[in-house]
Amino acid sequence: MPKSKTIQSVKGMHDILPADQAYWQQVQKKASQLLTDYGFDRIDTPLVESTPLFLRSIGDETDIVEKELYAFKTKGGDELALRPEITAGMVRAYIEHGMQVMPQPVKLWSYGPVFRHDQPQAGRYRQFYQLDVESFGDESAVSDAESIQLALLWLESLGFKNLTIRINSIGDANCRPQYLKALRDYLKPQTKKLCVSCRNRMKKNVLRVLDCKVPTCHEVVLNAPQLVGYLDDACKAHFKQLIEFLDEIRAPYLLDPYLVRGLDYYTRTVFEILVEEEKPREAKAAEAVVEAENLKEGEEPEKPLRIEPAEIENLTGLALVGGGRYDGLISLLGGQKTPAVGWAAGIERIVMLLKARDINVPPARPQPKVFLAQIGELAKRKSLVLFEQLRKAGIVTSSSLGKDSIKAQLRMANRVRAKYTLIVGQKEALDHSVILREMDTGVQEFVGVDDIVEAILWKRSGRD
Ligand code: AMP
Repeated sequence: MPKSKTIQSVKGMHDILPADQAYWQQVQKKASQLLTDYGFDRIDTPLVESTPLFLRSIGDETDIVEKELYAFKTKGGDELALRPEITAGMVRAYIEHGMQVMPQPVKLWSYGPVFRHDQPQAGRYRQFYQLDVESFGDESAVSDAESIQLALLWLESLGFKNLTIRINSIGDANCRPQYLKALRDYLKPQTKKLCVSCRNRMKKNVLRVLDCKVPTCHEVVLNAPQLVGYLDDACKAHFKQLIEFLDEIRAPYLLDPYLVRGLDYYTRTVFEILVEEEKPREAKAAEAVVEAENLKEGEEPEKPLRIEPAEIENLTGLALVGGGRYDGLISLLGGQKTPAVGWAAGIERIVMLLKARDINVPPARPQPKVFLAQIGELAKRKSLVLFEQLRKAGIVTSSSLGKDSIKAQLRMANRVRAKYTLIVGQKEALDHSVILREMDTGVQEFVGVDDIVEAILWKRSGRD
C-alpha cells in the first residue's frame, strides 16, 4: 500500500464516536440497573474461543458458523475463532467454573462485541455489540417468561413503545423429528420453487426454510405444516404455560409459526422482539389474548393451529432482541444436563432506533458549571491543583490549559455554556486568589483560592 494512503476502518466495523456515547452509555446503564435488580451477575468471557465450541453449539451447518465465522489457525496450530455470539462462551464458562454446583438458577449477563462475516448493510455489521442475558438451571416456563419480561422492561426503560414479541415453540428432540419429516414431505414436491439456499437447507437444516426471506420460498412456506401442531404434550404444556405468563404481564406477543431462529441449539421457546409503528401495546396485548385462547383450546396435530400469514407480514423492521430456550446445550458441551433460557440484543440497532425516534438520553458528560481560565505559567500550575479541588467537590469544570489568550478562553467558556468562569492570572496566582466571573452578567469578584469551592457551592444552591 502506498505510504500516503490513509487507512480506513475495516468493512462492516465501525467506530463509536464521542457524539454517540450518550446512547451507548444509556443502553448499558439501564441494562445493568435492571439486571442487577433481578439478581443477575455480570460475567465477561474472552472474544476468542476454540473453534469447536461454536461448531458444536451453534451448529456447523448454520449460516453463522458455515459462512460468517472468523476462524483462524494460530502459529501453534490451535483452531480459534472470534466469538459470533456470547451464549456459547458463557455456557463454556458455566461448565468450566463448576457453576452447576451453585444454587440454581444461575443468572448471568454479559456485554461486548461479537463478530460475524455477514454482508454489511443498515443494521448489519461484522463487529457489533450484544447484551446477553442467560438463566441456567430452571426448566419451567416462568423462567422463559421472566427472560422475555426483562427484555421488554429494558427496551421500555429506554423509551421504546409499540414493542412486539414474535414467539414460537420449535419443540425438542422428542417431537421435532416428526415435524421435520412432515415439513420435508411437504416441501419435496415443490423443491423447484425454492431458492438454491433452501434446496440445500432441505438436506441439512430444513427448519431454516421456514424463515427464508425469498418471496417464492415464502409463498411455498405459507401452506406448510406448522410446528406448533406437532409439539408433544410436554412441549405443548410448556408453551401454553409460557403464554399464560405472558398474558399475566400483558406482554404484546404474536405467535409466529415461521420463527425458527438461526442457531441449532434452541429447544422449545424461540422469540424475537421488534419495534413497530402502528399499534399501541394495549391493542397488541388484546390480540395476543385471543390468539392464546386458540392455542389453549388445543388442536390435534392433523389440524395444527394456524396463524394468518398477513399478520406476520405486518411485522416489518429489524429484530432488536433474539433468544430462546436451550435445554440440550450444556450437556452437548460436556456439562451436566441443565435447562437454560436467554436472549441477546444488538446494541447498534437499538442505538439506531433511539436516534431515529428522537428519544432523548442524558448527555455522556454532564454540562460544565465552571470554566477555568488562566494566564501565564504560574497560573497554569495553580490551575492543575484548582481543577482537582473543584472536581472533588463535585463541581463539573472545563478548561483549556494549553490556551494563553483570555479572550479565546472566555469564548470557550461561552461555547460550553459554563455559568461561571474562574480566571487565574499572574497576580491572582501570586496572592492566592481567583476572579469569579458570572457569565450571564459579566459581574466579577475576587475570591480567595481556599474559599472558591465554597463560593461556587453557595451560588449553586441559590443562596446568593
Ligand atoms: P442472534 O445472536 O443472531 O440471535 O442475534 C441477536 C441480536 O443481535 C439480533 O436481534 C440483532 O439485534 C443483533 N444482530 C444480529 N446480527 C447482527 C449484525 N450482523 N449486525 C448488527 N446486529 C446484529
